[in-house]
Amino acid sequence: MLIFILENPNTYIILILYMIDCDTEYLLLAGENNEPEVFFTIEGEGEFVGQPSVFLRLFGCNLTCKGFISEDAPYGCDSYISWSQKNKLTFNQLFKLLEDNNFIDHLKAGAIFKYTGGEPMVRQKGLLKFTEAFVKKYDFLPRIDFETNATITPDSEWVSKYKATFTTSPKLTTNGDPEEKTYKPETLKWHKENKSGFKFVVQTSEDLDEIWSKYVKDSNDINIPLNRIWLMPCCGSRDEHINNAEVVAEYAKQLHVNFSPRLHLLLWDLAVRV
Ligand code: SF4
Repeated sequence: MLIFILENPNTYIILILYMIDCDTEYLLLAGENNEPEVFFTIEGEGEFVGQPSVFLRLFGCNLTCKGFISEDAPYGCDSYISWSQKNKLTFNQLFKLLEDNNFIDHLKAGAIFKYTGGEPMVRQKGLLKFTEAFVKKYDFLPRIDFETNATITPDSEWVSKYKATFTTSPKLTTNGDPEEKTYKPETLKWHKENKSGFKFVVQTSEDLDEIWSKYVKDSNDINIPLNRIWLMPCCGSRDEHINNAEVVAEYAKQLHVNFSPRLHLLLWDLAVRV
């Protein structure tokens, strides 16, 4: 913190400048084998599917989706790598990683800077500082999109100062956490007002009933517009995608909402680091 005292004949003006120390401020990133999950790929789901994106995967989440318990993810999560290893990177270490891999050039050229997890909103204070330091250092504002479970309301600066967008993925009953943890009407309304996208993983027609009664024609006045909804098949491999996608595409047609593939599974048959 720097403090300046400016004097004029009648008053003292105290100016306090907060400097971000990029050698001590840090983010906790997910990853494995000491490799943080920072990678360049194309967006695989939702509104921006197919667009070049630099992913920054933050460690941990405020939910534990027990519907996805597996050997790799004993807490329950469809992205086990979000929990596998905590990589503490100072901002300067992260800048170096981004530079060494030409990711800054990709971002400058318009690639989306995808803040994902886990749940990135858990670490939004650190991300705000990181973004401020990034903009100061590189002198451009990257196009930021969050991947969030829509249970923590974003700071208004994300929109007002950083023009960030939000791809939400609200969790249905099948995910296994209790409703008081997964369903936050005020946060969902914030996202509706800020024109976020809403992705839902659909396994059965009961999921559609739940989406309609809690998010579309609901008593909490969330009422997401149909053109901001994307239905996705529940799948963890290319074969499962091929088997499960068609029925979800039919649901999307009938309900006049969007269908989203999970393109990374179709292209690479992998759920992480692609
Ligand atoms: S909300 Fe997403 S990141 Fe969090 S535990 Fe569930 S599947 Fe994993």
